[in-house]
Amino acid sequence: MNKLMAANWKMYKTAHEAGHTAEELVHALEGRVPAGREVIIFPPFTALRSVRKAIKKVPGFALGGQNFYPSAQGAFTGEIAPEMLLDAGCAYALAGHSERRHILGESDEFVGEKVAFGLECGLSMILCVGEKFEERQAGQLEAVVRRQMEAGLGGVARDVTPDRLVIAYEPVWAIGTGLTAGPKEILEAHALVRKILKEQLGDAGAEVCIQYGGSVKPENAAEIIALDNVDGVLVGGAALNADSFSRIVTA
Ligand code: PEP
Repeated sequence: MNKLMAANWKMYKTAHEAGHTAEELVHALEGRVPAGREVIIFPPFTALRSVRKAIKKVPGFALGGQNFYPSAQGAFTGEIAPEMLLDAGCAYALAGHSERRHILGESDEFVGEKVAFGLECGLSMILCVGEKFEERQAGQLEAVVRRQMEAGLGGVARDVTPDRLVIAYEPVWAIGTGLTAGPKEILEAHALVRKILKEQLGDAGAEVCIQYGGSVKPENAAEIIALDNVDGVLVGGAALNADSFSRIVTA
């Protein structure tokens, strides 16, 4: 399975800035993604076109949408449909990112609707899960991750093609804080995610990619990527700069 190295640019960069950073990234990688790796960039919607232009001739790069509304079309002001993301060149979409759960109030069930609908429309889906600091302190890691995965994958067929589904384990306390989960914490959480995947999807669960996210940097990427059940990383802050993200991609 390829290691999936994803950059979540959140609400940063204009179209021009994003296109420029994507060009710099291609340049920093000397025009090719290392063997066994795939790079996914999630820019803001307004920058999908410029990033697509910058990466389109480079095998191993893919484009993703940070969000969508789980409906084909309709009166949903401010929202975007999966078909529109596909039309803009996206192969992937995120669902359940902690900022959407905790700032925008998205429920586990709504996240599950998005995962099922996105897959149905032809997107590959990255479902983000992870516990808050107080939940970890209260010994609720397993309960939280299990609840988010059961709702998040509730509408996913057991015969799903495993390479169209990704789980990103992102402890909320490590996102954008500079705090990274240690190897022991990552191993424990990823083994748990793998166990739940197998319970939910049977054999296919063994082949689903599990990313780690939470303050990944060039300095800690190699150690994290080498851990058991870590099949890639989802990177926010350190992916905004081409040099820093290229060092993560090649770590
Ligand atoms: C993220 O946004 O998914 C993330 C992991 O951010 P950061 O790398 O900045 O912690």
